[in-house]
Amino acid sequence: MKHPPLLLRGRVLPVLDAPIPHGAVVIEDGVITYVGPAARAPHLPGGATEVDAGDGTIIPGMVDAHVHLVADGSADFMGSVVRSAPEELTRTAAANAVRTLTAGTVAVRDLGAPDGIAVALGREIAAGRLPGPQIAAAGRAITAPGGHIPYLGVEVQGAAEMADAARTELARGADGIKLVATGGVLTPAVAIGNAPYEEAELAAAAGVARAEGRWVAAHAIGYDGTKRALRAGATTIEHGVYLDDEAVDLLASCGAVLVTTRIAVVRMLRNADVIEGAVVAKAEEIQDVNIESLRRAARAGIPIAGASDAGTPFNPHGGVAEEAALLVGDIGLSTADALRAVTATAARCLLRSDLGHLSVGAAGHVVVTGGDPMDDVGALRDVRSVVFGGRLVPRSADEETT
Ligand SMILES: [Zn+2]
Repeated sequence: MKHPPLLLRGRVLPVLDAPIPHGAVVIEDGVITYVGPAARAPHLPGGATEVDAGDGTIIPGMVDAHVHLVADGSADFMGSVVRSAPEELTRTAAANAVRTLTAGTVAVRDLGAPDGIAVALGREIAAGRLPGPQIAAAGRAITAPGGHIPYLGVEVQGAAEMADAARTELARGADGIKLVATGGVLTPAVAIGNAPYEEAELAAAAGVARAEGRWVAAHAIGYDGTKRALRAGATTIEHGVYLDDEAVDLLASCGAVLVTTRIAVVRMLRNADVIEGAVVAKAEEIQDVNIESLRRAARAGIPIAGASDAGTPFNPHGGVAEEAALLVGDIGLSTADALRAVTATAARCLLRSDLGHLSVGAAGHVVVTGGDPMDDVGALRDVRSVVFGGRLVPRSADEETT
């Protein structure tokens, strides 16, 4: 589909290259064709759309490497999913997709949804039939019988069954797979340190995905499960709460990306009075060790993607900029590294080299923020304009209909 070229002018943060104080970005046919000084930008024929960033900053569209589109952030995460019919979950997911894109996130990785809902929504968006970010979906999360988040997944055990489950999700259109390698905060009955799968079981599923060049996301909170997942071939470790030196060395030697979701814990603790006590107790239990582990990984130079785990209690979609702020505030990342965590490194989790940076040939997804995220990472929350595939995204649903 042809539409007029778009030119953005102002301070540019390409992410993988140095900032350009008086820069310009040109998008033609959905792809970036120029990034450089405004003075040398190509002359565009009449009809080009121009966006002036003013005192704001032009950055790549953000990428959120861990979300649950079917969940809306209500206090009862599990209840909100299990009590809803597929049609209701589909509507929720579609609304969350719009909210995500409007907040400046142009691609997400959905790590667990029932009934193929995230896969189907991703197809609708890709075909231009519904608004939203690009969606890379895991389909159903693969979890052990009686394990964490069965309502977002399928319960499987045994190496042959694990491999079959991975094949099934990929055949149904998943972009990668999600392995639930440990217990989790939101499943009170299962201890966080619980590691239900042997390395061989995880490896059987991971091997199927990796043979097809797909990503393997491992929900991994406890020490043992995290290490097993890494040895089994996980390409990303989700949450990364308990990381000792051995786990950090494994992250480095396996070339895996660590996906942080600090925001999910912070939001639960902020609303502790209205969340189930057992869940709050777990969130409190992991708070300090989580920060310590992430600092250890950061010091070792492990690639860190900041993600939202959106959909969890009081954690609505579109909040990945908040995770970037926590990476600066709690973990001590520089503003440049925090920006990279929610753009280029997050895109790496999706195995998408065309996302998360402003370069010629990259996808034409651009955000204009207020202020300068290099001075104050909070500027990432102040999204002024969103460009998706070279077109300006309407600011809100009202604007879309007027
Ligand atoms: Zn999650």
